[in-house]
Amino acid sequence: MVLHDFLCGTGHRFEAGVASMTAPDPACPACGSAARRRPSRLNMGGRASTGVAREQMPRSWEGVGRGDRETVAHWRKLAGDRDRLEEKHPELAGDRRPVLAHEGVFASRPLRAGDDPAAVVASVKAAEAASASPERAAS
Ligand SMILES: [Zn+2]
Repeated sequence: MVLHDFLCGTGHRFEAGVASMTAPDPACPACGSAARRRPSRLNMGGRASTGVAREQMPRSWEGVGRGDRETVAHWRKLAGDRDRLEEKHPELAGDRRPVLAHEGVFASRPLRAGDDPAAVVASVKAAEAASASPERAAS
């Protein structure tokens, strides 16, 4: 189990553990495209870490090395680092409440936990009315 830095075809950098030097390179956890190994940061003298954005964290079983213990622990540590960073800088986190509904009337404005559904629907309807013709808005 060796940690490597990877760079995907669209420019995401990430770290992932591979079983050996000959193991296939993992797909990018952010966009899923093919990635290639970069020289290890250990060989490059390290770098200041501000954590990994949540969107860059693996969301698939493959992304965490199919449950590989060291890979999972690695990402758990990065997630913990990110939590501490977001505690200090809440603006980095965005709205992380669970999305309850995102289809139909909620497509343009997801309904999140704690939202008043009626208020969200009303605001969506108001936005639709504002962009519609005056005749339609008046009806
Ligand atoms: Zn990518």
